[in-house]
Amino acid sequence: PDTVRLLSSSQVITSVVNVVKELLENSLDAGATSIDVKLENYGLERIEVRDNGHGIKAADTPVMAVRHFTSKICTHDDLEHLETYGFRGEALGSVCAVAEVTVITKTEEDDVSTQYTLNFTGGIVSKKPSHLGQGTTVNVLKLFKNLPVRRQYYSSTKKCKEELKKVQDLLLAYAIIKPELRLTLVHNKIFLEGFFPKPGADYSSTSSSHPDKTFIYVNNRPVHHKDIMKLLRQHYTAQYPDDGSRSRYPVLMLSLTVSPSSVDVNLTPDKTQVLLHDKEAVLIALEAFLVSLYGFRPT
Ligand code: ADP
Ligand code: MG
Repeated sequence: PDTVRLLSSSQVITSVVNVVKELLENSLDAGATSIDVKLENYGLERIEVRDNGHGIKAADTPVMAVRHFTSKICTHDDLEHLETYGFRGEALGSVCAVAEVTVITKTEEDDVSTQYTLNFTGGIVSKKPSHLGQGTTVNVLKLFKNLPVRRQYYSSTKKCKEELKKVQDLLLAYAIIKPELRLTLVHNKIFLEGFFPKPGADYSSTSSSHPDKTFIYVNNRPVHHKDIMKLLRQHYTAQYPDDGSRSRYPVLMLSLTVSPSSVDVNLTPDKTQVLLHDKEAVLIALEAFLVSLYGFRPT
């Protein structure tokens, strides 16, 4: 039966982006208005999706990851009026068969959240109190650890980057249809957030020589960073290919959060220059973000 389970799960859960999609849809089905997605090592080490939705009722937790359990339909009639993304009750159980899964959840009625560790068949192996607020956080560790061939697929950085791009596109697609939703993606703890001009909208700064309305922050500190500024301008200006004469500093706010140990702020007395130890990774993440935002890569 374990083999059968693994076989059918590996048909439902085929990739990192697939897991993110299922978890994201569960969060949306739970009425979440805020969802944070975190990946480590392109999601192979860890995929975390945290939401502020209605949580999972204590009575439902023993069966939440049991095959074909769903809290979303009760009667056949419900199927005709489906307003949720999920209804098959397959995703969570399938993920359990190909990864290590923990679920932390708290409903309005619960005093504290509870963390559940699930096993291969989706059963609860242990539970303990946790400190999170209302909502659900699902952690998927070591995806495909028991499927070497599938794991092998991700052995090249190229494939991993393609997968990350797919995750970004997926999140963007949901973010666009749900403007009221707060949705973030963090890969390897570089957190990127900002207010950007809509693609095509001309939000150039009035000053043509000086980036007076381009705000860049690293760990909440306003900074100047030549390479980041260059990348931002390149992508922004590339929208107006036949208008090279006009110098464009976009009006935007970009806030980067990196681990404090990976940045030096004391380069200049006013601390507005920062040294990012992992500059390449930051620029790659920013570029991927800009490409998915503006839909093309400047040449
Ligand atoms: P489905 O979405 O088809 O119902 P899943 O396997 O994706 O099946 O999820 C099983 C059940 O676990 C859901 O029906 C729901 O009750 C619960 N669940 C899973 N994720 C969440 C979440 N983020 N918030 C609240 N409930 C959840
Ligand atoms: Mg689902």
